[in-house]
Parts: sequence; structure tokens; C-alpha cells
Amino acid sequence: MASIQMVDLRAQYEQIKAEVDQAIQQVLDTTAFINGPDVKAFSAELADYTGARFVIPCANGTDALQIAMMALGFQPGDEIIVPTFTYVATVEVIALLGLKPKFVDVLPDTYELDPKALEESMGPRVVGIVPVHLYGQCSNMEFILDFARKNNLKVIEDTAQAIGAVYTFSDGRKAQAGTMGDVGTTSFFPSKNLGCYGDGGAMFTNDPVFAETLRMIANHGQKKKYYHDSIGVNSRLDTLQAAILRVKLRHLDRYSASRNEVADRYDKAFVNHPNIKTPKRAANSTHVFHQYTVQVEGASRDELKAYLQENGVPTMVYYPVPLHRQNAYLEYGYSEGDFPIAESLCNKVLSLPIHTEMKSEQQDFIINTIKFFFTK
Ligand SMILES: *Cc1c(COP(=O)(O)O)cnc(C)c1O
Repeated sequence: MASIQMVDLRAQYEQIKAEVDQAIQQVLDTTAFINGPDVKAFSAELADYTGARFVIPCANGTDALQIAMMALGFQPGDEIIVPTFTYVATVEVIALLGLKPKFVDVLPDTYELDPKALEESMGPRVVGIVPVHLYGQCSNMEFILDFARKNNLKVIEDTAQAIGAVYTFSDGRKAQAGTMGDVGTTSFFPSKNLGCYGDGGAMFTNDPVFAETLRMIANHGQKKKYYHDSIGVNSRLDTLQAAILRVKLRHLDRYSASRNEVADRYDKAFVNHPNIKTPKRAANSTHVFHQYTVQVEGASRDELKAYLQENGVPTMVYYPVPLHRQNAYLEYGYSEGDFPIAESLCNKVLSLPIHTEMKSEQQDFIINTIKFFFTK
């Protein structure tokens, strides 16, 4: 049996090697390394895939969040509602722009932002909400969009983990993750569901004027070369990465399907297991399983993790510390106990290997090793 990886980028590359190598060679042959034709073509193809009217590429998912917040015109001191149980990038750009995070707790079963927490986190300086579609399924967008409309807030969807997830509104309308708010942001970090071979990111919007603003800020605040209308940043998607992403986008539906197969097998293996709580599917969203994250109950998560590691099964803890308890963000004045669900999840969550080339014998081994730990 081949050794088990959290994400098997090598096995995935081998499956699409001919297509990828050709795409890379063609960029090398034309030497159009910056803003080459593949960048535009990929943006158009991703717009087509997601249903977003405009896709604006940039250098990574963190930049995408920063550019989105700059383009929305948030001012220092403005407050942004953000879940405390997420990757640091979201709150990092809030802090960098002189904005203030207003943390909220998450739901104990789907791990998404708790809609009931929004009302009490409102205040006169709150200008935006960042729902993070954590692990691969959409937050409760109907509620969040409704709340934002009533309170005149902007919605920035962090879709770095959920590209391709489909949300269904109560009237039956469907939309992809990242295309429902004022702006959506995503990352093409290699291990993301649509990953390139380096760094990359993009922003989604349906508003043509706002799309121009995003594009301008990502390009030094200029529309016309050497004429700068606003302070911008330098954030581009390399042509090589765009060429690779064009290949991988063609396989994305198949990748999501194989991730779902792996998830279904885990679900079945641990149904009613006393110590392993499987992730709940959100009511109105499909799941693209960027991560398959269980909760370890009535046993030590860290002991299980160490045991699995010794037996050749890698696992990860996303995330061990909630953002309101991270040293860098203590200045915002939160304390332990403020967000009990997130704090308890940080001690219980364990993400199991899930990827597009997982063999069933590998998965059986993972499942049996976990089960054996609890019978020792
Ligand atoms: C990966 C990730 C990001 C940041 O993306 P980078 O491309 O690494 O900058 C932001 N938010 C979430 C939720 C992520 O998982």
C-alpha cells in the first residue's frame, strides 16, 4: 500500500501530467509570464464555472481578502464580524487595514458561523461580515444576506475552502459559494480543492463597477498605466499558475465527486461510533470536503493523533487555537470563555486524510486504525 498523505499532490499530478506539462511548456514557449493570455482565459472559464459575472485574479487568497476590503472602502476603526474558528488570513487583513474584528462563535456540528450570534455582535461601527465556508460547505447565506441587508452591511465570502459548493435558497434559487455576497474570495494554494503549483487567488463579484475597482486596486491603483487613482497593491496571478489552473478546473467536478466518495465512506464507517462524531452536512449546501473533520469525544484527540501518526496515518488539527485567543489578536480584548463552542472544537477536531486519489485500501487502513485505537 502506498504511504498515506493528507493530500496527495504527486499522485494527482501523475494523473494529469501530460495536460499540465503541455500547458506549462506553452507558457515557456511564449514567455508571457505576466498577464499572459492564460490569465484572462482562466478568469473567464472560472466565471463560467462558478456563475460569477466577474472573476478578478490575484496573487493569493489573503490578498483577495485584503483587496476586497480595500475596495469596499472600509475605514480604520470600522468593525467586521468574523468567526473566531477559522484560518488566520481573514482576521489578519482586518487588522492590517486598521479595522477591528468582531468575533462570533460557530455552530458545533457544521462548524459554520452561528447566525444567532450576529444580532448581539452588531454595533454602530460594524460595516461588514465575513462568512467563511469552512471545510467545504456554505454558511447559512440566506440568513446572513438578509441580516446584512437589514443592517446595511457588506458581505465578503471567504470561499478558500469551498470552491464549487452549491447553496440553495428557500425559493429554490441556487448559487455557488463566493457568488452570493458583495464579493467572494478564494485561494489556489496547492492543497486547496482547486490548487495551482504555487500561490494564487481570485475575487468574485457580479457588479461591473466594483469589479473594476477590485482590478484597479490589485494593479497599483491604476486603470491606465502610470496614472494612479487610489492606493493599491501589486497582486497578480502568474501566467504559469493560470495555465495549470485551466487544466485543473476541467477536473474539478470529478475531484469534488471523489472527495465526496471518501467522505461517504468515513460517514458510514463511523456512524454511531461512541468516540468519533462525523461532520454534519449543512441544510442548504452541497459539500466539497476540503477537509473531513471529525470530533473526538470521550477520549484524547491528541493521543489518537499521535497513535495514528505512529501507524502511518497523518491527520491535522484545523485549528488548535481560536483567533480570539491567538497572541497576535489579544489586543482586541477577548478572553477565554467568550466563544465556548470554538474553544471546545479546538480541543476536539481532527481532520482525516481526504483527497482525490485516495485508494479504498488506504481508507480501510485509516478507518481500522482509528477503530483499533478505541478498543485497545
Ligand atoms: C487558505 C485560506 C486562506 C488564504 O489563502 P492563501 O492563498 O494561503 O493566502 C484564507 N482563508 C481561508 C479560510 C483559507 O483556508
